[in-house]
Amino acid sequence: MAKSRRVIALVAALVLFLTSTPGNDRLVYSAPERSAAEDAHESSWDEQHLKTTADALCKEFNAFLKEIGSEPTARVKVSERYIFVYNVSDVYLEWISVLLEEVAKAFDKFVDKIGLEVDELTEPMTVVVFATREEFDAYAAVLRGPDYMNLKRTVSGFYHHRLNRSIVYDHTGVEAFRSDNVASTTENRSYSRKRINLEAREVKLRKNAESNIRTLVHETTHQLCFNYGVFSTAFRAPDWVVEGMAATFEPATPEAPLGWRFRNVFPVSRHYLNALRKYAQEYASSSAIVRKALVTDVLDEQGYAASWAIFYYCYRKRPKELAAYLKLIASKRPFAEYPEEEKINDFVEFFGDISEFSAELEKYMKKL
Ligand SMILES: [Zn+2]
Repeated sequence: MAKSRRVIALVAALVLFLTSTPGNDRLVYSAPERSAAEDAHESSWDEQHLKTTADALCKEFNAFLKEIGSEPTARVKVSERYIFVYNVSDVYLEWISVLLEEVAKAFDKFVDKIGLEVDELTEPMTVVVFATREEFDAYAAVLRGPDYMNLKRTVSGFYHHRLNRSIVYDHTGVEAFRSDNVASTTENRSYSRKRINLEAREVKLRKNAESNIRTLVHETTHQLCFNYGVFSTAFRAPDWVVEGMAATFEPATPEAPLGWRFRNVFPVSRHYLNALRKYAQEYASSSAIVRKALVTDVLDEQGYAASWAIFYYCYRKRPKELAAYLKLIASKRPFAEYPEEEKINDFVEFFGDISEFSAELEKYMKKL
């Protein structure tokens, strides 16, 4: 009973948030304080609660879409570990759901391989998939504040910690025009694997196919890390390790039926390796690159490339030390400061002297 009261309260709060002032076209949608998935899971994670969550998400996003002038065609699909709310076509979403479940399985194998213990998943992970960049931008502006629109337009997707949602959109631009992209039913259609592979084949041929896949995998890797307790939302882990891990999972594999696949190891990211090579020419030494990446709070493009390189090297060559380092990060006192000096000392404790580490890293990268 307490559960349904809470859901009613959540829906009522949303209705209030979504009531626009006549004659005022300012966006008044405001995201809920808790994620619907979090609300539904408080006592158990069963069919009824998933249904309640699905209904709440559907209502929330239809109201949002309506408010920004899009058709209210939001639907919800539940897979093993995710709840998707989307206004792309059902078959495109089905491809995403199969793909992200594969990423979750790769995550299990990754933590197993390096010997890292993780928590149980306590709530299904919510993924929001918009058909257009405009819808994505409008939603991002609500969650990230008005400054979002002033940012350089390079945000291609993001994971929102407080709401525990990954937010992405179709980079290829064709999903906005699909004919089955209508709010017909809340029942999930199911597709055969053959049909999903056909869809994947089509997705892979579209423009921006690779960035589309990389963004999906990147954001879901963040979501997996925070939901399985690799990183805590209460302590800010160094950017290089958070982003380096997501970057390691990213590489699209166009030859795989889904466009991404994990076998025994993550493939080398050509995207970051090329960026790193360009970047390395501007620096006097590899240890200058490593030092900068270890302490930087907000990474730029070069910082992402360096973070990928450090993480990928540790994962391939120093997995035990990587697991121990991740364990240390996870054990930090909530909300504690993390000064630069401590960041360096912690790294050195597990991976040794930075100059030596950087020399090994450089040698390894040259062979890739
Ligand atoms: Zn990221």
